[in-house]
Amino acid sequence: MSGENRKKPFVTKEQIEEIVKTYPTPFHIYDEKSIRENAERLKQAFSWNPGYKEFFAVKATPNPFLIDLLRDYGCGCDCSSLTELMLAQAMGVKGEDIMFSSNDTPAEEFAYAAKIGATINLDDITHIDFLEKILGKLPETLSCRYNPGGVFKISNSIMDNPGDAKYGFTTEQMFEGFCILKKKGVKRFGIHAFLASNTVTNAYYPMLAKELFELAVELKEKTGADIRFINLSGGIGIPYRPDQEANDIFEIADGVKHAYEEILVPAGMGDVAIYTELGRFMMGPYGHLITKVIHEKHTHKEYLGCDACAVNLMRPAMYGAYHHITVLGKEDAPCDHKYDVTGSLCENNDKFAVDRMLPEVEIGDYLAIHDTGAHGFSMGYNYNGKLRSAELLLKEDGQVQLIRRAETPKDYFATFDCFDIYHKFDWNA
Ligand SMILES: *Cc1c(COP(=O)(O)O)cnc(C)c1O
Repeated sequence: MSGENRKKPFVTKEQIEEIVKTYPTPFHIYDEKSIRENAERLKQAFSWNPGYKEFFAVKATPNPFLIDLLRDYGCGCDCSSLTELMLAQAMGVKGEDIMFSSNDTPAEEFAYAAKIGATINLDDITHIDFLEKILGKLPETLSCRYNPGGVFKISNSIMDNPGDAKYGFTTEQMFEGFCILKKKGVKRFGIHAFLASNTVTNAYYPMLAKELFELAVELKEKTGADIRFINLSGGIGIPYRPDQEANDIFEIADGVKHAYEEILVPAGMGDVAIYTELGRFMMGPYGHLITKVIHEKHTHKEYLGCDACAVNLMRPAMYGAYHHITVLGKEDAPCDHKYDVTGSLCENNDKFAVDRMLPEVEIGDYLAIHDTGAHGFSMGYNYNGKLRSAELLLKEDGQVQLIRRAETPKDYFATFDCFDIYHKFDWNA
């Protein structure tokens, strides 16, 4: 199978032509069937661990309709801020199913997390005192985020650079922190680490697990802490490029199991629960940004002008990230034209693709920009006064459900509603 064939969109031109009659472009659309199938695979893959739980990283796709799909497979929520905690709580997610993995955390967010019974994952040793002052007394269960420093390598290739990352406790701080927490009455402990992002290899989780399991055994021996869970956090990647091979979650979970049986079980820690906080892996491939080509420009280069822009999908502008593009209705046409695919921001990095080979595009064609299901809509912003798009769900029965309406100018001006300017417009017109 050629690489190109692996990147088929989950919608057709005919479907989109029907959908735009009700919901104009641009919009993000998500595929319920694939989200469910993937969540089921994850659940199966880790079923060897009785305490296993995925806490979906809400920041990746903070939409209650999508999070509700995952809850059918036992997923909880990993929150990073007050509004994400509010969302989880409003959805009826129980405290024990909420992880609060934040950093540089404001006092009121810790207070809120504690109030709703979320598990707090501390990012820094100084947050022990900070939290104790806020709450008066520490919760009986706490987790600490670990950062060993250095670089994270698999074989000889550097996956990521924890030594440069702002997150987590150093190794010495983990031991010191656990001792302090024990003295202050904490009864149940967790360990968390996120050492490499978007890893497209089955080796990352097993290697991370080995490192955390060894740390857990030592922490238990030296501090006597009762370690109840180890949180492998996020980082399992997806194949954004057509030549990349998707991760195999069964192989990944098997690798973690192997390390578990080799390290934790012999240390008498065979009851430790494995947690994950996946975002990208849960949703990334199952979203598309659908946009219409509204202009073509022939100057020093060939440009396609879309009705979406970087506020709808920031990753290409921010990281130079690759997102595959399919011209709907031209899936099988030869990619013999080279384009820069642009949005309308007054910002030259507002390009979904640079020098991308595509079939010949005409004005009015719809583009499916792939893999926008995580860190897509959620990274949106309002630069140039641009508005956030709608989000749609392609249901298993083929129906389309609006799961977030598009922003309107009224939303944009809403934060001026106590000022004159807001009332200069007739919002009922
Ligand atoms: C962003 C984040 C995640 C999810 O990361 P993915 O790359 O989407 O899997 C999980 N945990 C924490 C603490 C994060 O910041």
